[in-house]
Amino acid sequence: MFKQFLTFIGIDEKDHHLVRPVVIKSFGISLIALCAAELLTLLFYINASWDSISENLIITGTITPVVAMPLAMYMAWQRYKLNSLSVQLAHIASTDQLSGLLNRTSFIEAMRDRVRHPTTPNGSGAFLYIDADHFKTLNDEFGHAAGDEAIAFIGKVISQNIRQTDLAGRLGGEEFGVYLSGGNVETARTVSEHIRQDVMHLKFDNQKKRYTLTVSIGVATHHAGEVPSEFMKVADKNLYTAKSNGRNCIAA
Ligand code: GH3
Ligand code: MG
Ligand code: MG
Repeated sequence: MFKQFLTFIGIDEKDHHLVRPVVIKSFGISLIALCAAELLTLLFYINASWDSISENLIITGTITPVVAMPLAMYMAWQRYKLNSLSVQLAHIASTDQLSGLLNRTSFIEAMRDRVRHPTTPNGSGAFLYIDADHFKTLNDEFGHAAGDEAIAFIGKVISQNIRQTDLAGRLGGEEFGVYLSGGNVETARTVSEHIRQDVMHLKFDNQKKRYTLTVSIGVATHHAGEVPSEFMKVADKNLYTAKSNGRNCIAA
């Protein structure tokens, strides 16, 4: 009922959660304004008769909230809306729209930060360099829309196979990176294997060709204090090995 009322007065459904904090804040501001105005009125009429003081206190007490409340509500609304927009903007700026993962810059920045401030006591981690196989063929045979669908699918598969504390990003084109906080070779292999197998569920068919989506994965692990550029190079080399070994496989 209340939500319908908010929609009726023109407040977007996605902004409904802002109403409560805005009202609370506006009440707070109006109350401060009221106290200040009453105090000033009292000081101003300090030498006047009590009748005059009480009359003016009532006038001030009526006028101040009437003026302050809508102003405070307007200002608080603008502020919360601006905050919510800047959060949305930051999310859009750091996300790759096709895969739904972090974009390259944000992923590498987040990984660098995670390595510097590890969430596990030993400070180690694992990096997976994932590259779709024969992606050019997929585009050439089934069109760019199919390629885009495959990128979105890989993004979904990766998200479903990592924990909330891990990081995943699209490094560019048909290449992806995953960072497993506290991961070792075994966990990296297990996660890679799950991703490799799940990706194969996407298939494309036409009269001439059949394409099953596959990925090759290069794995690298690191100890505390190692920089991402170093272990990314190792993973890149292992990815090259996986490609040389016939693709659709993992090299660690
Ligand atoms: P390999 O197995 O050795 O990795 O071969 P590949 O064909 O996957 O690699 P290659 O680097 O030759 O080709 C990558 C292709 O990925 C070329 C490019 O057109 C395609 N690609 C990159 N980004 C996108 C995208 O956003 N959408 C689509 N549809 N294709 C993309
Ligand atoms: Mg490729
Ligand atoms: Mg590539």
